[in-house]
Amino acid sequence: MLPPTRADVTIIGAGAAGLMAAIWAGRANPQRTVVVLDGARTLGAKILVAGGGRCNVTHDIVTADAYAGGSRNAIKRVLQRFDVPATIAFFQELGVELKREETGKLFPVTDQARTVLNALLAGVRQSGAQIYHPCRVTEITRQDDDFQLGGDWGSVQTTRLILATGGRSLPKSGSDGAGYGLVQELGHTLTKRIFPALVPLTLPKDHVLCTLSGLSVEATLEVRAGNGQRLAGFTGSTLCTHFGLSGPAVLDISRYWIDAQMDDRAATLTINWWPTETVASFEAQLLNLGKQAPITLLRRGLPERLARLLCAEAAIDPGAPGHNLTREQRKALVRAVIEWPLPITGNRGFTYAEVTAGGIPLPEIDLKTMTSRVCPGLHLCGEICDVDGQIGGYNFQWAWSSGYVAGISV
Ligand SMILES: Cc1cc2nc3c(=O)[nH]c(=O)nc-3n(C[C@H](O)[C@H](O)[C@H](O)COP(=O)(O)OP(=O)(O)OC[C@H]3O[C@@H](n4cnc5c(N)ncnc54)[C@H](O)[C@@H]3O)c2cc1C
Repeated sequence: MLPPTRADVTIIGAGAAGLMAAIWAGRANPQRTVVVLDGARTLGAKILVAGGGRCNVTHDIVTADAYAGGSRNAIKRVLQRFDVPATIAFFQELGVELKREETGKLFPVTDQARTVLNALLAGVRQSGAQIYHPCRVTEITRQDDDFQLGGDWGSVQTTRLILATGGRSLPKSGSDGAGYGLVQELGHTLTKRIFPALVPLTLPKDHVLCTLSGLSVEATLEVRAGNGQRLAGFTGSTLCTHFGLSGPAVLDISRYWIDAQMDDRAATLTINWWPTETVASFEAQLLNLGKQAPITLLRRGLPERLARLLCAEAAIDPGAPGHNLTREQRKALVRAVIEWPLPITGNRGFTYAEVTAGGIPLPEIDLKTMTSRVCPGLHLCGEICDVDGQIGGYNFQWAWSSGYVAGISV
């Protein structure tokens, strides 16, 4: 079915933010025509793959500290308008019960992302809004106070427009960054950097850590500027893979690492494989080894394969008595275990990134209504804005909150 040629409100993008905006725009304006256009053949691809197919809808505790990009104060203002209790109640009303896991992440009790997508689509229908797809918008022009949207499917003239086209992560889902061009044509600027975030990092081909492929440990990753200043740190599950590193701690640190090294080629990313130990405490343990071998100590905190690899990295005999270690050997082992500098070669790119860092600068948006300060009648929400969150449901929460504000405000 083709969209009508005229609508009061049109939303481009039927991802998390666009669906949320459609529900609230439809509910708030039952007598108006609310249309959603999406270029994808299959709707909700990103919701369906989220959280390993279970969809991590939000987090028990959402604060602006879990986000980067725009100022935390600005992000907080939007999150407060539709917070976690409101999100839980909203999904409950749509028939989706959420459960909290030990990590604080909230998932549907069905453990199926499909439950979340179906509920949102039903919510859109009940609100009176209509979704049309595949209708990829390739052109937006202004016609007096209206917008004229066009594509190979036809055109729609609309009074209000909500742009919810997402970022560039997982481009095969339909979010390929085309929205950035559209919003620039409407007068907006973009942050000077737009780059993959929550993305696995690569190591040189045949790096020793790649031989540990499949091994997952709790570790701390830290980004430091060339002058030694600590810029960011995350502790969590770290997965060695055939190409490099992945897992929650790596994904969380990735945006800080990518950002830092674009400014400062001397920035470093180090890993502490034994997060409860510091340089001083681990060195003290090595000094007290006596006849005990280093491998015996390492086995207390690390898997055997990793422990042996770290000894090899420090060029020490894992089974020799500890009191035989020279000062240099001790230092080398401390460095390998507690602050190993990772020779990261790059990242897996937008195809494997969960989110996009950068986008429309928040000062260009009136956050009370998510209205453009540049283009009257335009609202913006979701990942197209300069906001990216950590692993844990924070990115969807931004989509729900900003989509709600945009939806009720049109
Ligand atoms: C693998 C993966 C797992 C994830 N898991 C989680 C998770 O568990 N929890 C969490 O909080 N976050 C997760 N995220 C992040 C989260 O999915 C996104 O932040 C969120 O979906 C962004 O919503 P959005 O509506 O802004 O954009 P998107 O979901 O990207 O939606 C944008 C929509 O716009 C459409 N579109 C784009 N351009 C056009 C155009 N020109 N014309 C018409 N339509 C267009 C696209 O087809 C798409 O449907 C995950 C992301 C990925 C990739």
